[in-house]
Amino acid sequence: MKYRSTRANLNYQLDAPTAIIQGLSPEGGLFVPVAFPHPIFDLNKFKNLSYQEMAKKILATFFDDFSNEQLAGIVDQSYDKQWDTQEIVKIVNHADNFYLELFHGPTLAFKDIALQVLPRLMNKAINIKQVDSDIIILTATSGDTGGAAMSGFKGQDHTHVIVFYPYGGVSPVQLRQMLALKGNNLTAIAIKGNFDDAQSNVKKIFNNHELVEKLNLNKLQFSSANSMNIGRLIPQIVYYFYSYVQLFKKCNIRSGQKINFSVPTGNFGDILAGYYAKKLGLPINKLICASDQNNVLTDFFKTGTYDRRRKFYLTNSPAMDILVSSNLERLLFDLYDEDSNELAKLMNNLNANGKYTVNSTVKEKLDQIFAAGFASEKEVEDEIKRIYDKDRYTIDPHTAVASFVTKQYQKNTHDKTPTIIVSTASPYKFPETVFHALTEKEVKQKGIPAIQELNNYLKEDFQGNVHNLIQNGNYQEQIIEANQMKDTLLNILNL
Ligand SMILES: *Cc1c(COP(=O)(O)O)cnc(C)c1O
Repeated sequence: MKYRSTRANLNYQLDAPTAIIQGLSPEGGLFVPVAFPHPIFDLNKFKNLSYQEMAKKILATFFDDFSNEQLAGIVDQSYDKQWDTQEIVKIVNHADNFYLELFHGPTLAFKDIALQVLPRLMNKAINIKQVDSDIIILTATSGDTGGAAMSGFKGQDHTHVIVFYPYGGVSPVQLRQMLALKGNNLTAIAIKGNFDDAQSNVKKIFNNHELVEKLNLNKLQFSSANSMNIGRLIPQIVYYFYSYVQLFKKCNIRSGQKINFSVPTGNFGDILAGYYAKKLGLPINKLICASDQNNVLTDFFKTGTYDRRRKFYLTNSPAMDILVSSNLERLLFDLYDEDSNELAKLMNNLNANGKYTVNSTVKEKLDQIFAAGFASEKEVEDEIKRIYDKDRYTIDPHTAVASFVTKQYQKNTHDKTPTIIVSTASPYKFPETVFHALTEKEVKQKGIPAIQELNNYLKEDFQGNVHNLIQNGNYQEQIIEANQMKDTLLNILNL
């Protein structure tokens, strides 16, 4: 299957391995399939598949340049003993909704699902295309991507991961995970700025032709592990199918019955995978786009105008603190019937004026498919407490955003459709907020000790991967100005 850019004309086509290695299209667009696949997935048959088996089927429909053996190897190595549940993901029923736990991987957040697969896809892609340069994975993170990318790429030959994160903008546990992984082919650096500064500078570096040429001369080339990379997006489709089928298997829903998914959203990667699942035939009624105080998407779905010119908040759901949700571009490309000229115009408007407005046809399509809402930090904490009090079930702040928005949506619309809330992180990844939500007290010490304190309060046994966090070590941050990212990069690469 061939891939094309959302902003370039149809003549420019790449195969999947090349699209995965490149990450972003040179003119700034995102790669999408030239012809979206329409496989006939029989959900009745899917019922008997393991997570891994389903992943192989879904990856094969998008990445047919890889052999089935290659994909099977990638999937089996990605979803192995590093996960603390054999099923890989879990679905539980609490407070009248379902929670899809995607945080049983090595860094305790849903990004592991895709970031275990992407490095292995990239490694095979390098073989398939016989690339003789090393790949530099340059990534901006608001917290979870960094650790998950470093974990996934650890020890992968011919790759080097360089992560930029906002100084003071990631949680102590996220920071700990990144710094503990540093070394060999992994680097994490703090910038004095927010996530959008980090992301926009990464994009600038990618689009700096002089720099790219210099790298090429030294047998180096850039790629991206952000959800802009198509190799990261596609593996996320799997859990939409898998969770649907589990509900169906347990007779929570009838065959073919539509359900809602509520997704805590930042860069729009997770929820876009849900949209792709719907396009592939999964019976989805509404995709509920849940935001935190940075509610640029809520406003967009309400008004049809995306306007990033607003105050940026650092909240207790840091992985969602984003003003420019990159993957929205892929959705709009689809809703504009793949009109790359129109997309280039919208994105130019966003760059030049900080905003754009979609036309009324597209707005109507958005209204049909999506609902949207946001939660304040207080509402997030109240929701953590509500669910705990009701059912003794503990959720993390990101999941709480979606849980709150779902409750609000159900109250306002009386929509009784069974709903899966996508649960994106372990509560132990954000122990300070969760502890405060439950007890109204501050933890005595942030970071690892806070995990222990929360654990004592909850009187639970530690689950496998939470254990791995609790290890000794003294880690130092490297902090730079946001405008030093390019120079720092050249330094690391000895150029
Ligand atoms: C990254 C992340 C999100 C947001 O996902 P997007 O794909 O960026 O929309 C939500 N919750 C957690 C815990 C995350 O790490």
